[in-house]
Amino acid sequence: MARTCLAVFDFDRTVVLDDSDATIINKLKENKPPPEWEATNKDWTPYMSDVFEHAFTAGLSQDDILSCIGAMRPTPGIEQLITTLATEGWDVLVLTDANTVFVQHWLKVHGLSDCITSVITNKAFFSSGRLYIEPCMRQTACARCPTNLCKSIALLRWCQQHQYQRIVYSGDGRNDYCPATNLPANATVFPRSGYPMDELIKKTLSSSSPQIKAKVVPWHDAYTILHELFPEKAHIH
Ligand SMILES: [Mg+2]
Ligand SMILES: [Zn+2]
Repeated sequence: MARTCLAVFDFDRTVVLDDSDATIINKLKENKPPPEWEATNKDWTPYMSDVFEHAFTAGLSQDDILSCIGAMRPTPGIEQLITTLATEGWDVLVLTDANTVFVQHWLKVHGLSDCITSVITNKAFFSSGRLYIEPCMRQTACARCPTNLCKSIALLRWCQQHQYQRIVYSGDGRNDYCPATNLPANATVFPRSGYPMDELIKKTLSSSSPQIKAKVVPWHDAYTILHELFPEKAHIH
């Protein structure tokens, strides 16, 4: 039977409390300075490729990197939320500018892999102990997103292969605002309170021509999302 409801999650600062790339950059800093971020850089993936090169030459092993990622704290309530969505028959998509290695490893360590329908992100892989990363896509259609990933385009492609009656979207970042503007009025958008997506949504909603049609519910933890989607689960917190 086709799934009729879709829950989309960003990864960094949404599924996990902190940022996975920053976690590795901070780990690298213990051994050697990370590469400089240049103002002319447009895309994040070439920079992370440099970071992984530095990590390799600084002697950070595959195990070091994976154990750092596995130890990242979940957002409170996110495990209950994702397992509930899976039990209730929702499709659950993780759509993120992180990479396949980080996301899949974290989900596995936290026992959530089987609850996730798909992970859409930059492709990463270890080869001879060094981590490599390739862009999720190469796009120029959306000017406000980097060429390696526009989440609106990725979500549109996914939805063209599925028929959903309802879509909900949780995130925190500027690149989560782009897909939020394309969701219909019966969708719900969950921006992490006080983060860029939340600020951009507030700004557009207070303007004369708001770009958001969906219902907006800001959150501090994932129990807010759980209770909004499943009011009968209000006892879980
Ligand atoms: Mg994020
Ligand atoms: Zn975009």
